[in-house]
Amino acid sequence: MAGEGRAPLPVVPPPFRDERLSSWLERIADVYLVSLDDLRAHVGWSRPALQLEIDPVQTDMERIAAATNSSVERLFGMTFHDAPSRYRSLLRPDAREICPVCSRGMQRPPRLRTWSFAFSFYCDRHRQPLQSPDTRGASVLSDVGSASRGAAILSNWAKGGETAVVPVDAAISLLLAPHRKPSPPAPWELARLARSDQQAHAMELSRPCPRPVLGILVPEFNSAVPVYNQLLPRALPGLRDAPFAERYAIAIGLARLLKNPATAVAHILETTDEFGRKKVLALIDRWPAGIRNAVTRGDRRITTRGEGRGAATRVRLSRQRVRAPSGRDAWRDRADA
Ligand SMILES: [Zn+2]
Repeated sequence: MAGEGRAPLPVVPPPFRDERLSSWLERIADVYLVSLDDLRAHVGWSRPALQLEIDPVQTDMERIAAATNSSVERLFGMTFHDAPSRYRSLLRPDAREICPVCSRGMQRPPRLRTWSFAFSFYCDRHRQPLQSPDTRGASVLSDVGSASRGAAILSNWAKGGETAVVPVDAAISLLLAPHRKPSPPAPWELARLARSDQQAHAMELSRPCPRPVLGILVPEFNSAVPVYNQLLPRALPGLRDAPFAERYAIAIGLARLLKNPATAVAHILETTDEFGRKKVLALIDRWPAGIRNAVTRGDRRITTRGEGRGAATRVRLSRQRVRAPSGRDAWRDRADA
C-alpha cells in the first residue's frame, strides 16, 4: 500500500503549540515544494486532511506518525477528535485566520486549533486580533472588551461550562429573535448606497428585512453591515457559517445582554412592536424565574409610569451578575499535556 515501509521524511518542521494537523501537513509539503495531495500520496494517508482533523483514522495517523517521526498520540492532539460536541458544532474547518505576530517572517502562516472556533477573534499568546480575508464591517465594531467577554463566555459554554445566569443558548436565541416585524429598509438605512445602486436593486431592496434584537443591543452592527445585507441565521448552530461581522456582533451582544439581563430586556421591550413583543416574551418565559420577575417589574414600571428608558435603567439584579468564566481551558490543557 502507498507509503508503507517508506523511510521517514528527512526534514520535518516542528509543529507550533496548538497547531492544527492540516496546517502542519501543509507546512511539511512546502518544505518539499509539493502540494498537500502530493504529500498525502507519498506518505499514504487516505482521508483528506480537513476531514482527518474532525474524524481521525488510526491507520492514517500511524502512517503520518511514521513519516514524521512523531507519536500517534501527539498527532491525535492536533485534531478535534475529543472536542465536546457543542464545540465541534461551532467549528469552522475552512477557517483561514492568522495572527500577524505568530506568522511573522513565515512563508505560510500556521493555523491553530483554537482559531477554528466560530467565536475566536484574538491570538491568546500575542493579544492580537486575528486577521482574515473577511473584513466586511470589521472596522466599525470596536467594542473589544465586550467582544472578548462574549467570546470567552461562548467558548466556555461550548466546552461544557455554563457560567451565565441566563443559559447561553437562550441568550443567543433572544439576540437572533425579531424585535419588530420584518420591514423593507427605510430611506435612511439606504443612505450609504449610491442612488444608481438603489435603482438597479430596487426589487431586492423593497423586500422585508429581519429586525433582530441584536440590532437593539449592538446598534453599531447596523452601521457595520446595512440591514439589507445582514446574514444572520435563525439559530445558534448556523452562526458557524455566518460572516465575521455577524459572529463578532453576536459576541458583543451576548456580553451586553448577560452583564445585566433585566436591564437589557427592559430596553429591548421599549423598542418592540406587538409582533416582536410576543416573540421576546415567549423566549423570556423560559428564563430563570428571578430574572423573569425583575424583567416584569421593570416592564411594569415602563408601561405604568411611561418613563421610558429611565425606568428601565433602575432595574438591577444584585446577585445575578454573570460570573467571570474560568481562565482554565481543560480541553486544550489536556491536548497540550
Ligand atoms: Zn499570535
